[in-house]
Amino acid sequence: MTNKVSANNSSDLKSEKDYAKYFETTYQPPSLRDARRRGKEEVNVHYDFEIPEDVKNIGADRKYLIRTYGCQMNEHDTEVMAGILENLGYEATTVDEEADVILLNTCAIRENAENKVFGEIGHLKALKREKPELILGVCGCMSQEESVVNRILQKHPQVDLIFGTHNIHRLPTLLKEALFSKEMVVEVWSKEGDIIENLPRVRKGNISGWVNIMYGCDKFCTYCIVPYTRGKERSRLPEDIIEEVRQLARHGYQEVTLLGQNVNAYGKDFDFEYGLGHLMDEIRKIGIPRIRFTTSHPRDFDDHLIEVLAKGGNLVEHIHLPVQHGNSDILKLMGRAYTREQYLELVRKIKAAIPNVVLTTDIIVGFPNETEEQFEETLSLYREVGYDSAYTFIYSPREGTPAARMKDDVPMSVKKERLQRLNAVVNETALEKNRNYVGEVVEVLVQGESKKNKDVLTGYTRGNKVVHFQGPKSLIGQLVNVRITTAKTWTLDGELEEMYEVKSS
Ligand code: SF4
Repeated sequence: MTNKVSANNSSDLKSEKDYAKYFETTYQPPSLRDARRRGKEEVNVHYDFEIPEDVKNIGADRKYLIRTYGCQMNEHDTEVMAGILENLGYEATTVDEEADVILLNTCAIRENAENKVFGEIGHLKALKREKPELILGVCGCMSQEESVVNRILQKHPQVDLIFGTHNIHRLPTLLKEALFSKEMVVEVWSKEGDIIENLPRVRKGNISGWVNIMYGCDKFCTYCIVPYTRGKERSRLPEDIIEEVRQLARHGYQEVTLLGQNVNAYGKDFDFEYGLGHLMDEIRKIGIPRIRFTTSHPRDFDDHLIEVLAKGGNLVEHIHLPVQHGNSDILKLMGRAYTREQYLELVRKIKAAIPNVVLTTDIIVGFPNETEEQFEETLSLYREVGYDSAYTFIYSPREGTPAARMKDDVPMSVKKERLQRLNAVVNETALEKNRNYVGEVVEVLVQGESKKNKDVLTGYTRGNKVVHFQGPKSLIGQLVNVRITTAKTWTLDGELEEMYEVKSS
């Protein structure tokens, strides 16, 4: 299960050793065939993580910096790595030059994200020259890709440590190996391991917290690398999740987001009947003002969950429901396992049960061979659903995925032009939706000062809309009522209110 590879990492950065040859003989790259054969083997849950005796305090008087790319799952993993490093005695820093350990927690979802990381690895070469004792590590989704690891081995010997998404709990031992040997330490597990429950964690902020409810994804959308980099679906036990949410409530957190690559598949791997609806129904009884979840897959979004969400209360009326495309043939090629009609039917049911729901989505433009007519179906679906906002992307082929092998006759210039047209609709709809709030009073969870103006506070509505208003800093971390005065495309401006009835989104 474990493929551990060490390659010589000469302090001379011009070493000409053929790392790749050595690497290929021992490393099992993520494989679609193997991944599809994923068995139903039992996933064990462990509660016995401990920092090994021989590494306790290796971080004393040393500092660490973790740079995080990509999704909330990576943010979550960064919190765990920070927890482990602080348990080893390291202190956090935000300054590269002060750091004794720098970890790049990477994202593989788009080529652009990967390029950024390679740019950063290149930048850090100079720092590593000046400070050879610096440990430079690469982790996260990119490290699960054979091509990435080979490229680092061949071209970036300034990297000391590479580890994947399945063995974060091994960080203390891997770090020790990197510190005390002259080798580049590479440990990437191509197969996911068990669930480790009691990993330490340093949460970012104390207002909103992420709670991971499951790991991995079994959907295998044809364009997506995640099922290979994150492994098969494994759900955490309900009691462990509920206890974590309770703890956050006890510590005064105002909002919890339940996290997973496909949260609607939660519980499918249990041998008892229990899904996301059951979990939400229990969590809504906990005294925490707001509960969210992300990300949904429409295929697994069931009626029971809709019924539970309709109970409202601390279950907010915002659902991020990635559609990816508006044409059924493209959805089929994407392996999304629903048609345009089925998606629209789901939206109809959700809106019937939760009339004030705020829907947002993800959309890919320029999937291989997308025709103009097919693209226009995305535009028409967008208008028909009436989303409040969307993340829109041009399709980016990911090596090893089925879609990357499809021939594509759509020129990039056409894809870019389609993206612009889609974004024009997204922007127009977002502004229209936001205008509905002018004059209304909304509940805002105050997150902090606005980045652009320190005299202005910023926060989110239950529907996840950003609101700016003036008020005392003592409101940070609190729920307040704000009357909306101005609607912009992506934000709302307002004035602090006290006594009005609140519009729920
Ligand atoms: S459901 Fe999401 S994470 Fe899973 S394969 Fe599809 S796009 Fe990727």
